[in-house]
Amino acid sequence: MTNLEVKPELLNCESSNYSTQVLKPRSITLTTRSGIKVDRLLPNASLRMIGAWCFLDHFLPQDNEEIMSVAAHPHTGLQTVTWLFSGEVKHHDSLGSNQVIQPGELNLMTAGRGISHSEVSNKDKSPLHGVQLWVALDEKSRNINPKFNHYADLPVVETDSFKARIIIGEMFGVVSKALAFSPLVAAEITFSTDSIVEIALDESFEYGFMPVNNVVQVSSQEIQIGELYYQSRGAEKIEIRARADSKILLIGGAPFEEEILMWWNFVARSHEEIEQMRELWQAKSEIFGEVADEINERIPAPSLPSIKLKPRANKKLG
Ligand code: MN
Repeated sequence: MTNLEVKPELLNCESSNYSTQVLKPRSITLTTRSGIKVDRLLPNASLRMIGAWCFLDHFLPQDNEEIMSVAAHPHTGLQTVTWLFSGEVKHHDSLGSNQVIQPGELNLMTAGRGISHSEVSNKDKSPLHGVQLWVALDEKSRNINPKFNHYADLPVVETDSFKARIIIGEMFGVVSKALAFSPLVAAEITFSTDSIVEIALDESFEYGFMPVNNVVQVSSQEIQIGELYYQSRGAEKIEIRARADSKILLIGGAPFEEEILMWWNFVARSHEEIEQMRELWQAKSEIFGEVADEINERIPAPSLPSIKLKPRANKKLG
């Protein structure tokens, strides 16, 4: 996924003293080659990050099903996490990776100091329904060499009420092998019966819960499909009421303490860094390599805003 807003802006989210809130998505049209709509949940006007999770796009089945085709574009300072509920996407990157991803599998791309990639959905495997998240890398990891990992055998926890697949981090006492650089978690929970369950939380984490296919009640609040219930750190547990076959995406992590600067597809620390990354991409620098795919195009970087970008902390109480 790429941030394809014509004028990507830095969202300024002032600190608040909430402990929970419901985030509403905003609709963004990805315009390169084929326009598909995605619902962007992070960054959000009222919340920039959840743990190290700094970006969350939810691509829902469309009325006029079009393929998602996102040509080569760069990333730095983050990991991309691609997770599908239905459909199929092919990933190519500048390391030479060529990986098809299906529901229940994880594509994890660690950009580190720089990588480029492209993504195309398979029109024969529709509808496409999934998420792409970005994880901000901390200071000690953000300049590492790029890597790409595909995980097809993630651990599953099954109870009388639900089946959970642990995408990254630890949940329900089970740990995913997926490469992580800060304390964080993601899991997909599918309810097998009409259920009321209490989920134990890590008190040092903040969390987000997104219903995927049904309205779900989180802490007695009705959350619509594609909304996200945010729970600040400090909670020991949370109650979820869901009908059979409901699916939710859970994300969480220790609040990210570093000030970051996010612009287009880069996570950096200063305006100068962003400027440099943008120039290197435009100059076809070897830092971002080349993507050999069937699209054979690259997305040009948008113009930088005239004002200087400033890094911001994700200040929250909780
Ligand atoms: Mn991308």
